[in-house]
Amino acid sequence: MPIHALPSNVINQIAAGEVIERPAAVLRELLDNALDAGADHIVIEARAGGVDFLSVRDNGEGIPAHEIPLALQRHATSKISCLDDLQSIATMGFRGEALPSIGAVADLRIVSRTPAAEHASVVELVPGQELIGPSPARGPVGTEVAVSGLFSRVPARRKFLRSPRTEWSHVEAMARRLALARPGVAIRLVHNDMEVWNHPIQSLSERVRSVVGEGFMQAAVSLEAEQDGYRLRGYVSRPAWSRTQPDTQFFFLNGRYLRDRLVVGALRAAYAEVLHGARQPGYVLFLDMPGERVDVNVHPAKQEVRFQDGQLVFRFLRSTVDGVIRADAPQQRESAQTSAAAQISAAAQMAEQQKQAGYAAATLPLVSTPTPQQRPSPLRVAETAAERWPSAGPGMPSMPAAQEPAAPQHGMPAMGLEEPPLGFALGQLHRAYIVAQSSRGLILVDMHAAHERIVLERLKAALSGDMCLAQPLLVPLDLEASSQELAALDLCADWLQRLGLDVMATGPQSMRLRGRPLLLEKFDLEALLRDILADVHAAESPDVHRLEAALDSALGNHACKAGSIKHGRVLSLSEMNALLRQIEATPRSGQCNHGRPTWTELPLEELDRLFLRGR
Ligand code: ADP
Ligand code: MG
Repeated sequence: MPIHALPSNVINQIAAGEVIERPAAVLRELLDNALDAGADHIVIEARAGGVDFLSVRDNGEGIPAHEIPLALQRHATSKISCLDDLQSIATMGFRGEALPSIGAVADLRIVSRTPAAEHASVVELVPGQELIGPSPARGPVGTEVAVSGLFSRVPARRKFLRSPRTEWSHVEAMARRLALARPGVAIRLVHNDMEVWNHPIQSLSERVRSVVGEGFMQAAVSLEAEQDGYRLRGYVSRPAWSRTQPDTQFFFLNGRYLRDRLVVGALRAAYAEVLHGARQPGYVLFLDMPGERVDVNVHPAKQEVRFQDGQLVFRFLRSTVDGVIRADAPQQRESAQTSAAAQISAAAQMAEQQKQAGYAAATLPLVSTPTPQQRPSPLRVAETAAERWPSAGPGMPSMPAAQEPAAPQHGMPAMGLEEPPLGFALGQLHRAYIVAQSSRGLILVDMHAAHERIVLERLKAALSGDMCLAQPLLVPLDLEASSQELAALDLCADWLQRLGLDVMATGPQSMRLRGRPLLLEKFDLEALLRDILADVHAAESPDVHRLEAALDSALGNHACKAGSIKHGRVLSLSEMNALLRQIEATPRSGQCNHGRPTWTELPLEELDRLFLRGR
């Protein structure tokens, strides 16, 4: 093929590939334009998830009739005229690409009227054809841009669209971002001729409450901070509130929604000490700063930016949020400290008692938990076979029996048996760790984490087998559902059914839980269901592996709350040994559900090295 210039229609279609990937992206561009026009009332209407039809109507300044055709030309904009203007860009748009790109992949109709005009004007554009108009039309001051049949003439792109329900969930999420970004703008959302929500002009707290929900507001701390021309304000969740997905994280830079790595990283760092890495905090934050200190022209959809002083922004975000969370929880921490102090003094007391009782080694800070009848030295290996090989730990939370190691005959000397990899328990350390002696050296087990993993593996084994007996709920649970959750439910309802979780959509914003697996009796089912749906929605795929991963992580988090041994619980030696045997029999038991190690080994050689033995 000889070199030739591409026709402008093809150029626009290629450009559209960058910014217009789905209906939600069209919405983002149209909303940006409405805001740039100074609108404070916006109506969004969609049909079939925005694929068939999507329109945005605003009461902004409008476009003069003769300029409407210009707006549809590539690189035509009213917002900048030279590169320097980008330095202090105050508008959302500036590339002059959105309308022509949309016009290249969908039918476009613009009706607009300026305050000075006697009537509105309309322009229509069908991809690849001559533009029609402007011609006189009826309409109020402001602009309505309507987009229909997205990609209907571009099959190569259309095949990447998901189901209308999934596309709708993205459209709704996009609209929600705008609603949060601009509490001062009234915004109404209509889907398939039904009003989904309608927010009047509100204060920030009112808007966050209506958009993110009362639950978040209850768990949120408000913040406001200023430093070197940077101003941060908004709401952040307390550590007790968290999600499996980052779907409640809203960050706005100078009014623009951002999902920037530096920002996400700073917030993650702020929560690092109080929230486990697998959990996601929630926040609605607004950072305002001088426009010339940030380059917004690095990402076609403007979701990432380049900060002139990234370090400073990172530190400002992290320390502000971290500080607010800490300041919010002084009492909890105090009481935690007191109880730690109490534990230490109790440990000291016990060590004293044991010394008096003649156990020379008891000065080691080992806190075992002897009952009066059975008071083993913390450093004594349990002697009776029953203690060393308990068939099932008394008092262990009972789960469907898994492969317990065969219990050897009572009274049989343990010597002849092969030493189990995790050895035998010596005692409990600070009610959190089990100390055991193995043939190689010393074993330390985080009892909470280890038990959590055992519970999870049993649940999973049971759920993947035939054991997930469903139990119909006496009273079905009617739940509110977001469009995102419903889209996810669409993808995975059958699969949930097979697990015994009987859930169905009952309306545009509701679902009903009718049955649940017997096994999950102790679980907070609503929270579990929402976590699974959030994960499935993020994966956007009914792929079984993704579903299993979603179940895994959701179960993992809930197993942790339901029925795992908590730190601080006193275990008998036989219970400890039972736990050790269960860990050995459990797949992936080296790590807890959150990926932290559950046990560690200090081989004798390492201990010897610690004491410079053999040198
Ligand atoms: P950009 O927003 O980058 O300038 P667009 O292609 O999105 O490029 O829009 C082109 C121009 O059309 C804008 O610069 C603006 O002048 C005009 N325009 C688009 N939408 C609206 C609207 N809703 N109200 C007023 N003017 C608009
Ligand atoms: Mg624009």
